[in-house]
Parts: sequence; structure tokens; C-alpha cells
Amino acid sequence: MQEIILNDNQKIPVIGFGTYKAKAQVGVQSVIDALSNGYRLIDTAAIYENEEAVGKGIRASGIPRDQIVVTTKVWREVLGFKQTKAAFNKSLGRLKLDYIDLYLIHWPANARNYKNWQQINADTWRAMEELQAEGKIRSIGVSNFWKEHLKALFQTAQVIPAVNQIEFHPGYWQPELTEFCQLQGIVVESWSPLARGGVFGNEVLESIANRQGKSIAQVCLRWVIQHDVIVIPKSTSTKRMEENISLFDFELSDEEMKQIDDLPEFGFSGELPNIWPDRI
Ligand code: NDP
Repeated sequence: MQEIILNDNQKIPVIGFGTYKAKAQVGVQSVIDALSNGYRLIDTAAIYENEEAVGKGIRASGIPRDQIVVTTKVWREVLGFKQTKAAFNKSLGRLKLDYIDLYLIHWPANARNYKNWQQINADTWRAMEELQAEGKIRSIGVSNFWKEHLKALFQTAQVIPAVNQIEFHPGYWQPELTEFCQLQGIVVESWSPLARGGVFGNEVLESIANRQGKSIAQVCLRWVIQHDVIVIPKSTSTKRMEENISLFDFELSDEEMKQIDDLPEFGFSGELPNIWPDRI
């Protein structure tokens, strides 16, 4: 499995497994299946209500804990120093793990929700820095942070985020933010790489897939990793899990990359970090 080295020297696979909406027994089984199909990065979050299931799946898989990179996230309604520490301990308890590999701020506090949003994000980050120093988290990062949120965080942060997990798929890939993160040494991780199914039926993607002899999903996921971005597709089907991780026997040409880069906007979730909980 191809890996990326983060700015804190931790290694992370370029492809991982998303678990949003995979709850209870479906969550347990999909984590077992993903691990047996070669995935070694598992992405969950407190808000997905499946940390318990993910933990069970990890234990049932028989794969040694130290070979699996587990990501979870602090939800946007419990930000702040004390609340973050409490939320972290609850996640750890539900997962039944001793440490988390990658812990993310799921969404930034923003000007619409907090008068002192910069302070709230700074306090949340300080809690995460302490947990990292105590050895309870290997890498700390953010999610859905725009430039404004990152720049504010840099004012007080002792540790630069290792990762920014953002919406990134053909039709909506935030190239300026991606470039900014990569210049700062922050690895970008793509959520909803298949636009939750929105990529299927796109004619440009279909013609590239036909030329390459690959599926549309494989073309989209390969396009993400060729941008040096980590990808975490979700699937509850073992066939599609296998398809989604089979990305290393072909390459998109510069022209194909550009064709996908230049697609007009489609498939955007409508979720904006500066106005949540509303959508556009
Ligand atoms: P994805 O873009 O990964 O799409 C998942 C959907 O595509 C599912 O309906 C799945 O169906 C289907 N699918 C998967 N593979 C294939 C395939 N090869 N062919 C056809 N259909 C396929 O969406 P997600 O929103 O789940 O994003 C991935 C992960 O990113 C999440 O699970 C979560 O971990 C993370 N995430 C993080 C967010 C954040 O704010 N930080 C926000 C959203 C997601 P089926 O299961 O039936 O295969």
C-alpha cells in the first residue's frame, strides 16, 4: 500500500475507508470486510454514531492494532478545551482503543456561530496538542477548515495540523485551498470522493473510464491520489471495496487529469464551513 509521510513523520495510507452511514452490524461488517480487502486506514467520527461498531470491526478483523490507522473527529457542537478532552475520552471509550492515530476537528467554529470563533478553535487545538503530547493521539488535524480558519489557528498553534479533510471530488475540489494546505505541509484528505454517487453518469468521466478500461469510481479515486490527496471512499459492498482499492495498475495522463480538473461544478454537498449549520 502506497503511503504518505505526514509533517509529524507518521505514515498514512493514500487510500482509506469511509464509514459515514455504516452503523451497528453493517458498520462492524464493513470494517471487517475493508480490513480483509487491504484497507489500513479507517475513518469514523463521533457524529456518525458508529465508533463502537468500528472498534468491534477492528478487533474482530484479527489485524494487529498497530497496522491500522484509525481516524475519528470531535463534533462541531462540543468545541473548546474541556469539551474536546471529554469528547476525545468518550470516543476512545466507544472505540475501546488506547490511542487514536488521527484526531480531527470535524468543522471549525465560525463567525456565524461563535463571537470568539478564533479562540474556540485555538482552545480546541490546545486540548488536542496536549492529548498528542500525552501519547493518546499520534497525529492531529482539522477538517473543513478554509484558509481563514487555518490562518487564525496558526496564530496560536504549537503544532501545524497534519491533515485537512475537505470535500474533494470531480466537480468540487477546492484547488486553491488544496494548494494552500500543501504549501504549508498539510496533507489534504478527500471526503465524498465519489460525490456520494454524484459522479456516476458524467460523460467526461465515463469516456476516460472506457479509455482506461476502469470504472468511473476508479478514475475518480485515482484522480484524487494523483493530486497527492488521501482518499477515503465508503462502501458496504465487498465488490466495490475491492474495486475502490485497486488503483495502482494504471495512471491518468496529464490531459485526463486536466479534463477532470476543469469539469464544471457538480455534486457539491452544499455544506460550507463559514455558515454551518445552514447550507446554501
Ligand atoms: P462517497 O463519495 O465515498 O460515496 C459513497 C457512496 O458511493 C455510497 O452510496 C456507496 O454505496 C457508493 N459507492 C462506493 N463505491 C462505489 C463504486 N465503486 N461504484 C458505485 N458506487 C459506489 O461518500 P461519503 O460521503 O461516504 O464520503 C466518504 C467518507 O468521507 C465518509 O464515509 C466519511 O468517512 C468521510 N466524510 C467526512 C466528512 C467531513 O465533514 N469530514 C463529510 C462526509 C464524509 P455502497 O455503500 O452501496 O457501495
